[in-house]
Amino acid sequence: MENQTNSNNRGKLDELLRHLPAFVFHYDFNPATDKACFPYVSHGITTYLGLQPEDVKEDASPVFNAVHPEDLPVVQQSMRHSAGTMENWNCAFRIKDAHGNYQWMEGVGKPVKKSDAKIRGYGLITPSQDHLKALKESEEKLQSLNELHSLINNFSSALMQTDVHELHDAIEHTLAQLGEYAGVDRVYIFEHEPTEDVVNNTFEWCNEGINPEIDNLQGIPFDAVPRWRARFDKNEHVYIPLVSEIADEYHVEKQILEPQGIISLLAIPMYYGENFIGFIGFDSVKKKRIWSQEHIALLRLAGEIIAGSIFREHFEKQIIEARRIAEEANKAKSEFLANMSHEIRTPMNAILGFSEILLNTIGDEKNRNYLNTVLSSGRTLLSLINDILDLSKIEAGHMEIASEPVQLSVVFKEIHHIFHGRIEEKNLKFKIEIHEDLPDVVVMDDVRLRQILFNLVGNAIKFTPKGTVTLSALSKPNNDQVSNIDLEIKVSDTGIGIDPAYHQKIFNSFYQIESDNTRKYGGTGLGLSITQKLAHILGGSIRVESEVGKGSCFIIDFKNIGTAAYKPEALESFNWIDKEVKFKNARLLIVDDVDFNRELVKSFLADFNLIMLEAHNGKTGVELARMHLPDLILMDLRMPEMNGYEATEILSNLPETSHIPVVAFTASSMKHDEGLIRKLFKDYLRKPIGRNELISCLIRFLPHEIIPQDQKGITDELKQQPFVLDALEQKKLLGFADEFDAQYKEKLASLKDFLDAELLTSFLTDFGFLCRQYSVSHFDGLMDALKQDARNFDFDGFLNHIEQLDANIERFKQQIKS
Ligand code: ADP
Repeated sequence: MENQTNSNNRGKLDELLRHLPAFVFHYDFNPATDKACFPYVSHGITTYLGLQPEDVKEDASPVFNAVHPEDLPVVQQSMRHSAGTMENWNCAFRIKDAHGNYQWMEGVGKPVKKSDAKIRGYGLITPSQDHLKALKESEEKLQSLNELHSLINNFSSALMQTDVHELHDAIEHTLAQLGEYAGVDRVYIFEHEPTEDVVNNTFEWCNEGINPEIDNLQGIPFDAVPRWRARFDKNEHVYIPLVSEIADEYHVEKQILEPQGIISLLAIPMYYGENFIGFIGFDSVKKKRIWSQEHIALLRLAGEIIAGSIFREHFEKQIIEARRIAEEANKAKSEFLANMSHEIRTPMNAILGFSEILLNTIGDEKNRNYLNTVLSSGRTLLSLINDILDLSKIEAGHMEIASEPVQLSVVFKEIHHIFHGRIEEKNLKFKIEIHEDLPDVVVMDDVRLRQILFNLVGNAIKFTPKGTVTLSALSKPNNDQVSNIDLEIKVSDTGIGIDPAYHQKIFNSFYQIESDNTRKYGGTGLGLSITQKLAHILGGSIRVESEVGKGSCFIIDFKNIGTAAYKPEALESFNWIDKEVKFKNARLLIVDDVDFNRELVKSFLADFNLIMLEAHNGKTGVELARMHLPDLILMDLRMPEMNGYEATEILSNLPETSHIPVVAFTASSMKHDEGLIRKLFKDYLRKPIGRNELISCLIRFLPHEIIPQDQKGITDELKQQPFVLDALEQKKLLGFADEFDAQYKEKLASLKDFLDAELLTSFLTDFGFLCRQYSVSHFDGLMDALKQDARNFDFDGFLNHIEQLDANIERFKQQIKS
């Protein structure tokens, strides 16, 4: 029974020892040899050290061998001490566990029996609670630091990729992430404003139930918290574990922080490179917050990343703002140019146009001279304006380049022709030398090439008192493309020459060589600058070879220029000046809000057989065009009520007017206008216009007859010109002739006898209706003229026009029936 009880107890004890998180042992220790053995050791030795009780029964060396070498002397010393004094043994040491890793353990032992050589006692070894706790804490800390690290990693790449417009929100989101991570109540950023030396709360995140403070924390003098400033200047953080314990000398801080309910606070300065941006802060309102140095170090990194984003936000916003201002300025400049061009060209139109007209009417030599001076000064002024506008256009990148076939020999002759007068005046020689190998036609921008040559030849003549100006061209084969050439054009003179010191400078805008040149030769110093820019735009380069007194040679090299073997017909420009032009019964509608512009066109065309209609804005222009179906419309662009673009758009969409060519009549010189103009209009005339230009343009669109000078005077015959009708039209028009005979012939006959206003009105309305029914527009002009005559009580005009109408209708009918 007793035995059974003992074995029961033993069983319970075994059970207890097996589950005990430790191992107990019974030891013998010899302090002289440091040898020990564990005659009994509980199963825990296997759990903790991976040893079997038998391994240490005779000799505990396997246990001592497992002790960390640094701790072994401590263990032995403490055991010796216990043996010597019979005091309890107590020691902490590291020992290898079953997996070979050192673990902190704590040993306690009680010596019970001492013999000569050794001491016997009982002991217990358990995992060290303190060390476990520390380990747990450091594991937690490590994990928390890892989390913070990956948080920082994530938001740093997110912030870097965020568009500047979304950066503010992204920074706020980052603060929220940091706040939630740290379990604080408020995270915020104060930015330093150096000019005022204040700090402003620019970002804030608040935990639930925490009041935002951002609005109360604007424009705070940085000096209000001197301790913070001093620390931030040294790039050190401010950590206040307990606001209530802030020392009295910093009572100001307390006064600021306590009303916000802050218990603990951490504020870290933010630098971007050398620049102090401000600081990031973490407030704990509900409980004390302890920050480790490692956390602070990582938060400092977070602060730096956020500082970088804030810096980027400011910087990019500045760039965007600067770009906006620059674009606005550029737009303003373009607008200004467009306006200036328009405003100056409009009065120039009147000055040059009417001077030209007057010149043909005034006989008095003195007055003619005055007028010639007005004309030539006007032209100089205009060319100056054009230069300035050109330069601005090139600089603004608005210059449009068109590649077209150009016959250099023709262009050179034209340039010669232009300067013919001045060459004669100065008694100079002008030579054109075109190398025989040069292909007939090259492909380049004809207009810009002429402009370049005009400037260079103009200068050569200007700066050459006597001798020769030579314009030459030669070609070199191009290695890249067989069909292309490298073209070299030279303008050389035997004039005053240029000191090599100025060879570069003369290509600068407004540069003229310092001397009495300016006074003597005039000019603006823009010509060469424009020439060089144009040469570049055409893919070429320009240089000068010259010495003072030895003449100058300007050489332009164009690389890789296309060539063509044929002679394009269009190249021979038509010169009608010495000929008489006769337009055939055409009607021209002039739409322009400026009276003298319309007046000028009318004056230029006064001698032509044209019927002119006028409108002073787009709206009336459209109405008149629909009513009278003119053969051509000259359309000003900028007009009140409806501008030329809108009017032309409307006309081109109306079936009855879509066929009428509309020519833009513009004072603008801007590229964006040109694009639209080309799309909408058949052609354009740029104000100020000259008579020749105007007539050349009309010739393109109106049916006409060219009579050489010596055949002038056969105008009566021209009145008999046949109407142009095709066979199908002719058949259809038989109805028109019949109806006219039946209903209108008589009315017209009585109108020829007597001008009855009422009868005329009804005749014009009804006959006009008949014409439209058969799409006959041949008589519209005369009908308009008749209306006009009636309105003006112009009896002679009326009789003349009614005769003409009668005759024309008869002729028309004959032709239909023939
Ligand atoms: P501008 O002729 O209106 O003064 P340019 O830009 O065409 O302006 O020329 C700039 C300057 O270069 C001239 O003022 C003149 O001093 C010098 N220059 C240009 N061409 C010649 C030339 N063929 N011979 C001598 N000097 C020249």
